[in-house]
Amino acid sequence: MPLAVVPTPIGNLEDITLRALRTLREADSVACEDTRHTGRLLAHYDIKRPLVSYHEHNEERLAPELARRARSEKVALVSDAGTPLISDPGYRLMRACIEAGVEVEVLPGPSAVMTALVASGLPVDTAFFLGFLPRKGRERTGLLDRIKREASTFVIYESPHRLAKTLKELPPGTPVAVCRELTKLHEEVYRGTAAEATEHFAERVRGEIVLVARGGAEEEPADFEAVVERARGYVSKGESPSRAAARAAKETGQRRSEIYDRLVK
Ligand code: SAM
Repeated sequence: MPLAVVPTPIGNLEDITLRALRTLREADSVACEDTRHTGRLLAHYDIKRPLVSYHEHNEERLAPELARRARSEKVALVSDAGTPLISDPGYRLMRACIEAGVEVEVLPGPSAVMTALVASGLPVDTAFFLGFLPRKGRERTGLLDRIKREASTFVIYESPHRLAKTLKELPPGTPVAVCRELTKLHEEVYRGTAAEATEHFAERVRGEIVLVARGGAEEEPADFEAVVERARGYVSKGESPSRAAARAAKETGQRRSEIYDRLVK
């Protein structure tokens, strides 16, 4: 009678596995963050199971009770979207089950981390998931410094109104992918440098966002003269200074306006 950890769609309702649907159908109870939200998902699949509200505010209190229940009943754990425990409630229940010797069955399925990492087009050989960055303080600075130094790919959950701040705190040439509203109607994957993304998302941004960044940009600081030389090369091949500056900016992460100013001086 295990606890089953069941991932649910991150947008598109079709992104649910047959096994997830069967597990939910067979569960004696479904622990979920928001009973209305999960109720709608289950109704979509014509599944009627008792729902138990389990969220960050009652997690500590409910985890031992649900673990006890999972000894004799089938308990399924879901979150509002994606995989439980991944920046979502569930860790305490998982620990409570492990400590009580209750079997835990983890189903693979949707998570914004993996979808964004693959969609980013950045190297996926070594990747670190940072969850939501702390809003300020030494821990945030430490993590951002790590991205600046380390040639790995970093996956960050970001809120739309903090995206600009985070992008600005990265070296401008950092290759990034801003993955917005994945699997939803207004899905957008913007790939470019941190400087370009800052420009692209200068207006108000909406929706759910995963920021994927390729670290290590600080190790190879772009030589501004070399960048200007690169732009001069494009001009000599017939491009206008403004197009040449834009192209060199895109390729190096240097500011387009600064390259342009130098070119036309
Ligand atoms: N457990 C979830 C998972 O496995 O993806 C993540 C839950 S966390 C509370 C919510 C954050 O995940 C959002 O703020 C956003 O950063 C990211 N996210 C979730 N769904 C997304 C989507 N459809 N597109 C982009 N980001 C998404």
